[in-house]
Amino acid sequence: MAEARTPDAEARTPDEVVARAARATGLVDLDGAVSDCFACPRLVAWREEVARTRRAAFRDQTYWGRPVPGFGTADARIGILGLAPAAHGGNRTGRIFTGDRSGDVLFAALHRAGLANQPTSVAADDGLALRDTRIFAAVRCAPPDNKPTPAERDTCAPWLHREVALIRPTLRVVVALGAFAWAAWWPALREVYGVRPPSPRPAFGHGAHWSGTAAPALLGCYHVSQQNTFTGRLTPGMLDDVFARAKQLAGVD
Ligand code: SF4
Repeated sequence: MAEARTPDAEARTPDEVVARAARATGLVDLDGAVSDCFACPRLVAWREEVARTRRAAFRDQTYWGRPVPGFGTADARIGILGLAPAAHGGNRTGRIFTGDRSGDVLFAALHRAGLANQPTSVAADDGLALRDTRIFAAVRCAPPDNKPTPAERDTCAPWLHREVALIRPTLRVVVALGAFAWAAWWPALREVYGVRPPSPRPAFGHGAHWSGTAAPALLGCYHVSQQNTFTGRLTPGMLDDVFARAKQLAGVD
């Protein structure tokens, strides 16, 4: 459930998100500011409702019930961009892709790729550490039906843009998990890198690749959702290929 707030740090409107994100001096500051965001009334109501009602299997747990910051190293060469936290995953544990089946698949792949020190991600204090990698979402609050509105995506974008700006010195490639993340990346080109996004936008697909001269490369990967992994649309081998390609593009051994 929600912790005590720090009113002077809260962002409660889209303009306050812009201003607070711009003031973030580093990733720790940014992560704290993201966690204190209340700018999307529908998502705030949903994340808190889920945290109150909980899933039966987690009834004895205290849900995070807040926005979920990025996770990973400050000198990341590889960024992984997801859609939004899961209601009973990140919204429960407070760490992105942690505590749900999507995270099980993702972190097992990152471990195989040598980018994570363990193959599981079950709780914020489980000792997981990433190498050369940072994971973040286009929208930082769990949305109903995993579907943020365009307005919510746009309201949340400054958090993403500031995070990318802070790791810009090392960031070389971004893996977009799904079409939503793929589409959410293009505004970052203009906002962070001063680069005009390509027109028309390259279509999303698994294995799709875009690269410009003054911005990180973008790789498309089917989302690690249960819908994709249970049906075999996305296999462990396909994920291994994407992360091998990402490492190659990023110059990671
Ligand atoms: S989705 Fe983003 S902008 Fe909206 S309340 Fe959550 S953190 Fe704030």
